[in-house]
Amino acid sequence: MVPKHFVFYYITVRSTLFPLFLCCGAGVLGAQTNGSPLFALPYSPSLDSSSMDRSVDPCTDFYHYACGAWIKKNPIPPDQARWDVYSKLTEDNERFLWGILVAASKPGASRNVVETEIGDYFAACMDQPAVEKAGIAPLKSELEAIAALHTLRDLPAYLGRQHLGMAGNGMLFGFGSSQDYEDSSRVIAFADAGGLGLPDRDYYTKTDAKSQETRQKYVEHVQHMLELLGETPAMAKAHAQIVMSIETDLAKASLTRVEKRDPYKLFHKLTPAQLQALTPSFRWDGYFETSRAPDTSVINVSEPAYFKEVEKLLAAHPLDDWKTYLRWHLVHSKASFLPAAFDNANFDFYSKYLRGVEQMPPRWKRCVRRVDGDLGEALGQEFVAKTFAPATKQSALKMTKEIEASMESEIRQLPWMGEETKQRALEKLHGIVNKIGYPDKWRDYSSIQIARGDYFGNVERATVFESRRELAKIGKPVDRTEWGMTPPTVNAYYDPQMNDINFPAGVLQPPLFDPKVDDAPNYGDTGATIGHELTHGFDDEGRQFDAKGDLKDWWTKSDAEEFEKRAKCVSDQYSQYTVIDDIKINGKLTLGEDLADLGGTWLAYLAWKSETKDQDLQPMDGFTPDQRFFIGMAQWACGDERPESKRANAITNEHSPDEYRINGVVSNMPEFGKAFACRVGQPMVHSQPCRVW
Ligand SMILES: [Zn+2]
Repeated sequence: MVPKHFVFYYITVRSTLFPLFLCCGAGVLGAQTNGSPLFALPYSPSLDSSSMDRSVDPCTDFYHYACGAWIKKNPIPPDQARWDVYSKLTEDNERFLWGILVAASKPGASRNVVETEIGDYFAACMDQPAVEKAGIAPLKSELEAIAALHTLRDLPAYLGRQHLGMAGNGMLFGFGSSQDYEDSSRVIAFADAGGLGLPDRDYYTKTDAKSQETRQKYVEHVQHMLELLGETPAMAKAHAQIVMSIETDLAKASLTRVEKRDPYKLFHKLTPAQLQALTPSFRWDGYFETSRAPDTSVINVSEPAYFKEVEKLLAAHPLDDWKTYLRWHLVHSKASFLPAAFDNANFDFYSKYLRGVEQMPPRWKRCVRRVDGDLGEALGQEFVAKTFAPATKQSALKMTKEIEASMESEIRQLPWMGEETKQRALEKLHGIVNKIGYPDKWRDYSSIQIARGDYFGNVERATVFESRRELAKIGKPVDRTEWGMTPPTVNAYYDPQMNDINFPAGVLQPPLFDPKVDDAPNYGDTGATIGHELTHGFDDEGRQFDAKGDLKDWWTKSDAEEFEKRAKCVSDQYSQYTVIDDIKINGKLTLGEDLADLGGTWLAYLAWKSETKDQDLQPMDGFTPDQRFFIGMAQWACGDERPESKRANAITNEHSPDEYRINGVVSNMPEFGKAFACRVGQPMVHSQPCRVW
C-alpha cells in the first residue's frame, strides 16, 4: 500500500528524509555506536563560533567559513551515510526515545496503554534471538500463496491482499488513497507506478560504467537473497536475471523524477472500466475485492503508460517468471524483520554498497526508528510531554506569523507580478494553515495486536493497520488535522493539497531553535526553515495549487512567464555545481528546493529586520548582527556525506548538497555581500543575482 506522501513524491522537506532501506537495515547485534540512552536532551547553542573556520574567506566559500571546524570535529560515524547538524540532533532524539522505550518495555501493571503498545513493540524488535529462532517461518504462508498461483488470473486477488502488508509500492505497483488533484476536499483511490528494487528508474537506464557495475551488484544481491530462501545458486542466478529483465522494462516505462515534479503528468482520473482497458489481463475487480478499498468508482492512475507496460509484460512472461518476481519482492520488503543473514545482505547492498555506510546501525537505533515509523503518534506523545514546552510552540507560531507577514508585504510590492495574480497569491498565503509541534488529536493504535516475541508479526499487523487506515479515507472528507511526520522528526514540510506548513517538535529545538539566544541566529536558522516551507507554496510545483489546495492555474500568462524566467536563473545556477566526480546537480530536479532555500532566507531576513527595527543591535563576539544572521543561517547545514551517498543523492534527492544550499543562496543576496564586505567578482557575489520571491 502506498502511504499518501509516497503517492506524491511531493513532500517537501528542509532536510533529507532517510530512505526506508537505510533506516531499518540489518541485524548484527551491537556496534561501536551503541552508547547509552539519554534521559535529557543535550544543549548545543544555535550560533557556535567554534564550528567556524576563519582561515576561509567568507566571500570565497561561506559554507566552509561557517562550518569548516564543525566538519573537522564531527567525522561521519560508521553507521551513517551523512552526518550533519540535523542528523546529529536526530540521533540525540533517538537516544532520548530509546530511554523512553527501555522504560516502557519493562513489563508491569503501572504502564498505561500507550506505554504498553510502544514498550512491547520495542521489546519484540530488540528480541533478536526470537527472530533468529523463527527463521523464515514467518514467510512460509506468503511463499505458499505465491507457489499456489495457478494462472495469471490469480494475480490480482493475491496482490490485493499482499499490498496491505507491504509498505511502499514494491510489488508491481502501488495502490492507496490521496486527495483528488482537482478537488482537495475529496479523497480518492490512487494507483501508482512502482515495482522496482533499485532506488530509482535511472539506475536501470543509465549507461555509464558505474551504473553498469551497480546493476551487476544488484543482480548478485537478488541472487543471494533467493539463495537464502533455499534456491540453488544456479537457479537463483537465472531467477535474478528474470527479475532484472522485468524491472528494467518497468523502469523504462516509468516517469523520471523530474517528470514527476509536474503534477499534471500524474493527474489521470479513470473509471474502473478505463483502468481495466489499460490492463486487460489484470482483473481489477479481483484486486479491489481482496484489498477491500471502500470506493473505486474513480481511480487516479498517476502513470497510465506504466500500466500499459505492465499489460505487455504480463503477456510476455510466463507465470513462473512472475512467481520469481513476487518471491524476490516479498523477501526484499521483509528482510529487516528476518534473521541476520537476510538483514545483513540487505544492509550490504543498500546501505554499504549504494550509500557507503560502513557499519550496521546498532539494533536499538533501528528499533527506535521502527517504533517511530509504525507507532509514531504513540511514541510522539511521550516525546512531546517530556521535551516540548508550550512557550516554544507559542514563540515558533509568532515567528511563523511574522514571516508570513513578510511574504505578504513582498507579494504586494513584487515588481514583476500584476495585480490580478497578486490577489490570488495573497489569497493562497492567507489560506495556509500553520501546524506547530504535534497533532491536536493522537492516532489510536489500540486495534493492532502487539505480541512480545513476534517482531515480524507486529510489523505486518502495523503495516496492514496503516494500509487500511489509508484506504478507509476514500470517499470521506479529507482530514486536515493529520500530520505526515511524527513529532520527534527533525524536519519540516509543506503539503500543497492541504496548503499547510508543518514543523514537528523535533525541529524546534536547539541548536536549530534556541530561546536562550537572541533573534539573529534564530531567524537565520529556524526563520529560514519557516520561510523555506512557506516558499514551497509558491515554488515551481506549489504555485500550481490554489488556496484550497486544488490543482488550478491562478496565474495570468505573462506573470507565469515572468516566474519561469526567474526560476530558470536559479536552475541554471545550480546546474553548474558539481556533486562529485563529473556529476553535476540536476537543477530541474532540485529547483523547488533551491527556490525555497532562496525565498525562505530572504523572507527570514526581512522578518528579522522588521522585528528588530526599533532595537539598537550591537556586534557580539566580533560579528555584526547581519553577520550573525547569516552564520546562523549557514550552520543548520554543517555536515559531510560519503561519496557513495552523494552519487545516490544526485539521482534521488530533490535537495542540493548542503554546501550549495548555503553558498547558492548567499551569493544571490546583496545583503550578504554587504554584511561581509565582499567585492564584485568574488565567488559569493553573483553579478546578476537570481531572485524570485
Ligand atoms: Zn523543501
